[in-house]
Amino acid sequence: MNSLLENLARPSVLAMKPYSSARDEFSGTAAVFMDANENPYNAPYNRYPDPHQRKLKQRIAAMLDVEPGEIFLGNGSDEAIDLLIRVFCEPQLDYVAVTVPSYGMYEVAASVNNVNVAKVNLNSDFTLSAKNLLSAVSDRCKLLFLCSPNNPSGNLLNNLEIITILENFKGIVAVDEAYIDFAGNHGFLYAWRDYPKLVVLRTFSKAWGMAGLRLGMALASQELIGLMDKIKYPYNINMLTQEYAFKVLQDTSQKDEWVSQILHEREGLVKRLALLPYVEKIFPSDANFLLVKTSRPHDIYNWLTGHSVIVRDRSSVNLCEGCLRITVGTQEENNALLTALISFPNE
Ligand SMILES: *Cc1c(COP(=O)(O)O)cnc(C)c1O
Repeated sequence: MNSLLENLARPSVLAMKPYSSARDEFSGTAAVFMDANENPYNAPYNRYPDPHQRKLKQRIAAMLDVEPGEIFLGNGSDEAIDLLIRVFCEPQLDYVAVTVPSYGMYEVAASVNNVNVAKVNLNSDFTLSAKNLLSAVSDRCKLLFLCSPNNPSGNLLNNLEIITILENFKGIVAVDEAYIDFAGNHGFLYAWRDYPKLVVLRTFSKAWGMAGLRLGMALASQELIGLMDKIKYPYNINMLTQEYAFKVLQDTSQKDEWVSQILHEREGLVKRLALLPYVEKIFPSDANFLLVKTSRPHDIYNWLTGHSVIVRDRSSVNLCEGCLRITVGTQEENNALLTALISFPNE
Protein backbone atom coordinates (compact mmCIF):
# COMPACT_ATOMS: atom_id res chain seq x y z
CA MET A 1 0.00 0.00 0.00
CA ASN A 2 1.45 3.37 -0.93
CA SER A 3 1.73 5.98 1.80
CA LEU A 4 -0.69 8.28 0.00
CA LEU A 5 -3.60 5.92 0.53
CA GLU A 6 -2.35 4.93 3.97
CA ASN A 7 -2.69 8.55 5.02
CA LEU A 8 -6.11 9.04 3.45
CA ALA A 9 -8.00 5.82 4.15
CA ARG A 10 -9.72 5.15 7.46
CA PRO A 11 -7.40 3.31 9.85
CA SER A 12 -10.12 0.74 10.58
CA VAL A 13 -10.43 -0.10 6.88
CA LEU A 14 -6.67 -0.45 6.53
CA ALA A 15 -6.48 -2.69 9.59
CA MET A 16 -9.52 -4.93 9.07
CA LYS A 17 -9.45 -8.43 7.71
CA PRO A 18 -11.94 -8.83 4.83
CA TYR A 19 -14.54 -11.61 4.69
CA SER A 20 -13.14 -14.72 3.10
CA SER A 21 -15.83 -16.55 1.14
CA ALA A 22 -15.89 -20.23 0.25
CA ARG A 23 -15.01 -19.19 -3.30
CA ASP A 24 -12.00 -17.22 -2.01
CA GLU A 25 -10.67 -20.28 -0.25
CA PHE A 26 -11.16 -22.55 -3.22
CA SER A 27 -11.63 -21.02 -6.66
CA GLY A 28 -10.73 -23.87 -9.01
CA THR A 29 -13.03 -26.33 -10.75
CA ALA A 30 -14.24 -29.50 -9.05
CA ALA A 31 -16.90 -32.18 -9.46
CA VAL A 32 -18.50 -31.73 -6.08
CA PHE A 33 -18.90 -28.46 -4.17
CA MET A 34 -19.80 -28.96 -0.53
CA ASP A 35 -18.21 -25.87 0.92
CA ALA A 36 -20.77 -23.05 0.67
CA ASN A 37 -23.98 -24.55 2.06
CA GLU A 38 -25.60 -24.10 -1.32
CA ASN A 39 -28.62 -26.12 -2.40
CA PRO A 40 -27.49 -28.87 -4.81
CA TYR A 41 -30.63 -28.34 -6.95
CA ASN A 42 -31.73 -25.46 -9.25
CA ALA A 43 -28.46 -25.14 -11.21
CA PRO A 44 -26.95 -22.76 -12.15
CA TYR A 45 -28.63 -20.29 -9.82
CA ASN A 46 -28.05 -22.42 -6.75
CA ARG A 47 -24.39 -21.35 -6.77
CA TYR A 48 -23.03 -18.08 -5.47
CA PRO A 49 -21.74 -15.77 -8.20
CA ASP A 50 -18.04 -15.05 -8.66
CA PRO A 51 -17.27 -12.51 -5.90
CA HIS A 52 -14.45 -11.04 -8.01
CA GLN A 53 -16.35 -10.99 -11.34
CA ARG A 54 -13.20 -12.26 -13.08
CA LYS A 55 -14.68 -13.05 -16.51
CA LEU A 56 -16.57 -9.80 -16.75
CA LYS A 57 -13.61 -7.74 -15.56
CA GLN A 58 -11.36 -9.41 -18.15
CA ARG A 59 -13.76 -8.35 -20.85
CA ILE A 60 -14.13 -4.79 -19.58
CA ALA A 61 -10.36 -4.54 -19.16
CA ALA A 62 -9.86 -5.55 -22.78
CA MET A 63 -12.53 -3.13 -23.96
CA LEU A 64 -11.09 -0.15 -22.07
CA ASP A 65 -7.46 -1.20 -22.31
CA VAL A 66 -6.95 -1.16 -18.54
CA GLU A 67 -5.84 -3.83 -16.05
CA PRO A 68 -8.59 -5.97 -14.45
CA GLY A 69 -7.15 -4.84 -11.12
CA GLU A 70 -7.93 -1.24 -12.01
CA ILE A 71 -11.67 -2.04 -12.15
CA PHE A 72 -14.17 -2.14 -9.29
CA LEU A 73 -17.65 -3.37 -10.21
CA GLY A 74 -20.60 -2.28 -8.11
CA ASN A 75 -24.34 -2.68 -7.80
CA GLY A 76 -24.68 0.51 -9.82
CA SER A 77 -22.13 3.29 -9.49
CA ASP A 78 -24.17 4.23 -6.44
CA GLU A 79 -22.40 1.39 -4.65
CA ALA A 80 -19.02 2.80 -5.64
CA ILE A 81 -20.02 6.23 -4.33
CA ASP A 82 -21.03 4.73 -0.99
CA LEU A 83 -17.87 2.62 -0.71
CA LEU A 84 -15.58 5.56 -1.48
CA ILE A 85 -17.15 7.47 1.40
CA ARG A 86 -16.77 4.48 3.71
CA VAL A 87 -13.15 3.83 2.71
CA PHE A 88 -11.99 7.41 3.22
CA CYS A 89 -14.29 9.27 5.60
CA GLU A 90 -14.37 8.85 9.36
CA PRO A 91 -17.93 9.87 10.29
CA GLN A 92 -18.12 13.38 11.77
CA LEU A 93 -14.35 13.90 11.54
CA ASP A 94 -13.84 13.83 7.80
CA TYR A 95 -16.11 15.31 5.19
CA VAL A 96 -16.77 15.22 1.46
CA ALA A 97 -17.17 18.10 -0.99
CA VAL A 98 -19.64 18.28 -3.85
CA THR A 99 -20.46 20.91 -6.42
CA VAL A 100 -23.88 22.50 -6.67
CA PRO A 101 -25.81 21.64 -8.68
CA SER A 102 -24.85 18.02 -9.13
CA TYR A 103 -26.00 14.43 -8.70
CA GLY A 104 -27.94 14.01 -5.45
CA MET A 105 -26.58 10.60 -4.47
CA TYR A 106 -23.22 11.97 -3.28
CA GLU A 107 -24.90 13.87 -0.49
CA VAL A 108 -27.35 11.08 0.33
CA ALA A 109 -24.55 8.52 0.59
CA ALA A 110 -22.56 10.88 2.82
CA SER A 111 -25.59 11.49 5.06
CA VAL A 112 -26.26 7.77 5.43
CA ASN A 113 -22.69 7.41 6.65
CA ASN A 114 -22.97 10.40 9.01
CA VAL A 115 -20.36 12.25 6.96
CA ASN A 116 -20.72 15.99 6.47
CA VAL A 117 -20.85 17.63 3.05
CA ALA A 118 -19.31 20.91 1.90
CA LYS A 119 -21.17 22.37 -1.05
CA VAL A 120 -19.40 24.58 -3.53
CA ASN A 121 -21.38 26.37 -6.23
CA LEU A 122 -20.45 26.00 -9.84
CA ASN A 123 -20.33 29.28 -11.75
CA SER A 124 -23.71 30.50 -13.04
CA ASP A 125 -22.98 28.94 -16.45
CA PHE A 126 -22.23 25.63 -14.64
CA THR A 127 -18.50 25.81 -15.28
CA LEU A 128 -16.12 24.67 -12.55
CA SER A 129 -13.75 27.00 -10.74
CA ALA A 130 -10.81 25.11 -9.21
CA LYS A 131 -9.94 28.23 -7.25
CA ASN A 132 -13.38 28.41 -5.57
CA LEU A 133 -13.30 24.75 -4.81
CA LEU A 134 -9.80 24.64 -3.40
CA SER A 135 -10.45 27.62 -1.17
CA ALA A 136 -13.53 25.92 0.30
CA VAL A 137 -11.88 22.69 1.51
CA SER A 138 -9.50 21.80 4.34
CA ASP A 139 -7.35 18.76 5.09
CA ARG A 140 -10.29 16.97 6.68
CA CYS A 141 -12.02 16.93 3.30
CA LYS A 142 -11.06 13.46 2.15
CA LEU A 143 -13.17 13.10 -0.94
CA LEU A 144 -14.46 15.36 -3.68
CA PHE A 145 -17.12 14.44 -6.24
CA LEU A 146 -17.04 16.07 -9.65
CA CYS A 147 -19.60 15.08 -12.25
CA SER A 148 -18.61 15.46 -15.90
CA PRO A 149 -20.77 15.75 -17.94
CA ASN A 150 -22.63 17.21 -14.99
CA ASN A 151 -26.10 16.11 -13.95
CA PRO A 152 -28.42 18.11 -14.14
CA SER A 153 -26.70 20.80 -16.24
CA GLY A 154 -25.38 18.47 -18.96
CA ASN A 155 -22.00 20.15 -19.56
CA LEU A 156 -18.54 18.63 -19.42
CA LEU A 157 -16.39 20.25 -16.75
CA ASN A 158 -13.22 21.93 -17.93
CA ASN A 159 -10.25 19.50 -17.98
CA LEU A 160 -7.72 22.10 -16.87
CA GLU A 161 -9.81 23.04 -13.83
CA ILE A 162 -10.07 19.36 -12.89
CA ILE A 163 -6.31 18.93 -13.32
CA THR A 164 -5.64 21.97 -11.14
CA ILE A 165 -7.77 20.32 -8.48
CA LEU A 166 -5.98 16.97 -8.91
CA GLU A 167 -2.66 18.75 -8.45
CA ASN A 168 -3.64 20.76 -5.41
CA PHE A 169 -6.38 18.94 -3.47
CA LYS A 170 -5.01 16.60 -0.83
CA GLY A 171 -7.87 14.08 -0.88
CA ILE A 172 -9.44 11.70 -3.37
CA VAL A 173 -11.06 13.17 -6.47
CA ALA A 174 -13.92 11.10 -7.90
CA VAL A 175 -14.85 12.18 -11.43
CA ASP A 176 -18.28 10.73 -12.25
CA GLU A 177 -18.42 10.07 -15.98
CA ALA A 178 -21.84 8.42 -16.14
CA TYR A 179 -22.60 10.35 -19.35
CA ILE A 180 -19.15 10.39 -20.96
CA ASP A 181 -20.23 8.24 -23.94
CA PHE A 182 -22.44 11.10 -25.10
CA ALA A 183 -19.62 13.64 -24.84
CA GLY A 184 -17.38 12.33 -27.59
CA ASN A 185 -14.20 12.22 -25.52
CA HIS A 186 -12.36 9.77 -23.30
CA GLY A 187 -12.74 11.78 -20.13
CA PHE A 188 -10.21 10.92 -17.45
CA LEU A 189 -9.67 7.30 -18.45
CA TYR A 190 -6.05 6.27 -17.60
CA ALA A 191 -5.38 9.58 -15.80
CA TRP A 192 -5.19 7.80 -12.41
CA ARG A 193 -1.79 6.53 -13.55
CA ASP A 194 -0.54 10.14 -13.39
CA TYR A 195 -2.83 11.26 -10.57
CA PRO A 196 -3.12 8.41 -8.05
CA LYS A 197 -5.80 10.23 -6.04
CA LEU A 198 -8.17 10.08 -9.02
CA VAL A 199 -11.13 7.69 -9.25
CA VAL A 200 -13.22 7.62 -12.43
CA LEU A 201 -16.82 6.46 -12.06
CA ARG A 202 -18.62 4.90 -15.01
CA THR A 203 -21.93 3.11 -15.35
CA PHE A 204 -23.75 0.71 -17.63
CA SER A 205 -27.03 2.46 -16.79
CA LYS A 206 -26.99 5.16 -19.47
CA ALA A 207 -25.27 4.66 -22.85
CA TRP A 208 -25.30 0.87 -22.39
CA GLY A 209 -29.01 0.81 -21.62
CA MET A 210 -28.75 -1.48 -18.59
CA ALA A 211 -30.08 0.64 -15.71
CA GLY A 212 -32.27 -2.26 -14.60
CA LEU A 213 -29.33 -4.62 -14.18
CA ARG A 214 -27.44 -2.37 -11.71
CA LEU A 215 -23.85 -2.38 -12.88
CA GLY A 216 -21.47 0.48 -12.33
CA MET A 217 -17.73 0.82 -12.05
CA ALA A 218 -14.91 2.66 -10.47
CA LEU A 219 -11.59 2.86 -12.30
CA ALA A 220 -8.49 3.77 -10.32
CA SER A 221 -5.09 2.52 -9.21
CA GLN A 222 -4.97 -1.14 -8.18
CA GLU A 223 -4.26 -0.07 -4.57
CA LEU A 224 -7.33 2.12 -4.39
CA ILE A 225 -9.55 -0.48 -6.08
CA GLY A 226 -8.19 -3.00 -3.57
CA LEU A 227 -9.55 -0.92 -0.70
CA MET A 228 -13.02 -0.76 -2.26
CA ASP A 229 -12.98 -4.52 -2.91
CA LYS A 230 -11.91 -5.12 0.66
CA ILE A 231 -15.11 -3.66 2.14
CA LYS A 232 -17.73 -4.49 -0.51
CA TYR A 233 -20.35 -7.17 0.06
CA PRO A 234 -18.71 -10.38 -1.17
CA TYR A 235 -21.34 -11.22 -3.81
CA ASN A 236 -22.32 -7.70 -4.83
CA ILE A 237 -22.91 -8.44 -8.53
CA ASN A 238 -25.46 -11.17 -9.12
CA MET A 239 -24.96 -13.97 -11.62
CA LEU A 240 -27.55 -12.77 -14.15
CA THR A 241 -26.00 -9.32 -14.32
CA GLN A 242 -22.48 -10.72 -14.71
CA GLU A 243 -23.57 -13.04 -17.50
CA TYR A 244 -25.75 -10.58 -19.36
CA ALA A 245 -23.14 -7.81 -19.27
CA PHE A 246 -20.45 -10.27 -20.39
CA LYS A 247 -22.56 -11.16 -23.40
CA VAL A 248 -23.47 -7.59 -24.30
CA LEU A 249 -19.88 -6.38 -24.04
CA GLN A 250 -18.81 -8.79 -26.76
CA ASP A 251 -19.99 -6.27 -29.28
CA THR A 252 -20.05 -2.55 -28.63
CA SER A 253 -21.68 -1.65 -31.95
CA GLN A 254 -25.22 -1.67 -30.54
CA LYS A 255 -24.21 0.82 -27.86
CA ASP A 256 -22.46 3.03 -30.40
CA GLU A 257 -25.57 3.01 -32.57
CA TRP A 258 -27.80 3.99 -29.66
CA VAL A 259 -25.44 6.80 -28.71
CA SER A 260 -25.34 8.26 -32.21
CA GLN A 261 -29.12 8.01 -32.52
CA ILE A 262 -29.57 9.77 -29.18
CA LEU A 263 -27.11 12.49 -30.19
CA HIS A 264 -29.00 12.98 -33.44
CA GLU A 265 -32.29 13.22 -31.56
CA ARG A 266 -30.75 15.61 -29.03
CA GLU A 267 -29.81 18.00 -31.81
CA GLY A 268 -33.32 17.89 -33.25
CA LEU A 269 -34.87 18.47 -29.83
CA VAL A 270 -32.70 21.54 -29.22
CA LYS A 271 -33.82 23.08 -32.50
CA ARG A 272 -37.50 22.42 -31.92
CA LEU A 273 -37.54 23.39 -28.24
CA ALA A 274 -35.86 26.69 -29.07
CA LEU A 275 -38.93 27.69 -31.13
CA LEU A 276 -41.28 27.54 -28.13
CA PRO A 277 -42.13 31.00 -26.76
CA TYR A 278 -41.85 30.02 -23.09
CA VAL A 279 -38.43 28.37 -23.49
CA GLU A 280 -35.89 30.91 -22.27
CA LYS A 281 -32.70 28.93 -22.56
CA ILE A 282 -31.47 25.48 -23.49
CA PHE A 283 -28.17 24.78 -21.82
CA PRO A 284 -25.52 23.16 -24.04
CA SER A 285 -25.47 19.42 -23.36
CA ASP A 286 -22.73 16.81 -23.56
CA ALA A 287 -25.12 14.20 -22.16
CA ASN A 288 -28.36 12.38 -23.07
CA PHE A 289 -30.56 15.05 -21.53
CA LEU A 290 -31.24 18.77 -21.82
CA LEU A 291 -31.63 21.32 -19.09
CA VAL A 292 -34.27 23.74 -20.32
CA LYS A 293 -35.07 27.06 -18.65
CA THR A 294 -38.70 28.07 -19.02
CA SER A 295 -40.88 30.89 -17.76
CA ARG A 296 -43.43 28.51 -16.16
CA PRO A 297 -41.71 25.28 -15.07
CA HIS A 298 -44.46 23.98 -12.75
CA ASP A 299 -47.29 24.61 -15.19
CA ILE A 300 -45.36 23.01 -18.02
CA TYR A 301 -44.40 20.05 -15.85
CA ASN A 302 -48.04 19.49 -14.87
CA TRP A 303 -49.22 19.94 -18.43
CA LEU A 304 -46.75 17.34 -19.67
CA THR A 305 -47.70 14.92 -16.89
CA GLY A 306 -51.34 15.34 -17.92
CA HIS A 307 -50.25 14.34 -21.42
CA SER A 308 -48.45 11.29 -20.10
CA VAL A 309 -44.96 12.73 -20.65
CA ILE A 310 -42.80 12.82 -17.53
CA VAL A 311 -39.81 15.13 -17.28
CA ARG A 312 -37.82 16.15 -14.20
CA ASP A 313 -38.64 19.42 -12.49
CA ARG A 314 -35.29 20.85 -11.36
CA SER A 315 -36.56 24.38 -10.82
CA SER A 316 -36.01 24.29 -7.06
CA VAL A 317 -32.32 23.34 -7.43
CA ASN A 318 -29.69 26.03 -6.89
CA LEU A 319 -28.74 27.77 -10.18
CA CYS A 320 -31.48 25.82 -11.99
CA GLU A 321 -34.35 28.26 -11.40
CA GLY A 322 -37.09 27.71 -13.99
CA CYS A 323 -35.45 24.57 -15.32
CA LEU A 324 -36.82 21.24 -16.44
CA ARG A 325 -34.49 18.35 -17.20
CA ILE A 326 -35.56 16.37 -20.23
CA THR A 327 -34.05 13.02 -21.15
CA VAL A 328 -33.64 12.47 -24.88
CA GLY A 329 -35.97 9.66 -25.97
CA THR A 330 -36.68 7.84 -29.20
CA GLN A 331 -37.90 9.84 -32.18
CA GLU A 332 -41.49 8.87 -31.31
CA GLU A 333 -41.07 9.86 -27.67
CA ASN A 334 -39.50 13.18 -28.58
CA ASN A 335 -42.36 13.84 -30.98
CA ALA A 336 -44.85 13.10 -28.19
CA LEU A 337 -43.01 15.59 -25.96
CA LEU A 338 -43.02 18.28 -28.64
CA THR A 339 -46.69 17.70 -29.51
CA ALA A 340 -47.65 18.15 -25.86
CA LEU A 341 -45.44 21.23 -25.49
CA ILE A 342 -46.81 22.90 -28.62
CA SER A 343 -50.34 22.60 -27.21
CA PHE A 344 -49.36 24.18 -23.86
CA PRO A 345 -51.69 27.15 -23.31
CA ASN A 346 -49.11 29.86 -22.72
CA GLU A 347 -51.23 32.86 -21.81
C1 LIG B 1 -27.46 8.08 -13.67
C2 LIG B 1 -26.22 8.47 -12.94
C3 LIG B 1 -25.38 7.51 -12.39
C4 LIG B 1 -25.70 6.07 -12.51
O1 LIG B 1 -25.86 5.46 -11.32
P1 LIG B 1 -26.05 3.87 -11.31
O2 LIG B 1 -26.10 3.59 -9.86
O3 LIG B 1 -24.82 3.29 -11.97
O4 LIG B 1 -27.28 3.56 -12.07
C5 LIG B 1 -24.22 7.92 -11.78
N1 LIG B 1 -23.89 9.21 -11.71
C6 LIG B 1 -24.66 10.15 -12.24
C7 LIG B 1 -24.24 11.56 -12.17
C8 LIG B 1 -25.85 9.82 -12.86
O5 LIG B 1 -26.63 10.78 -13.36
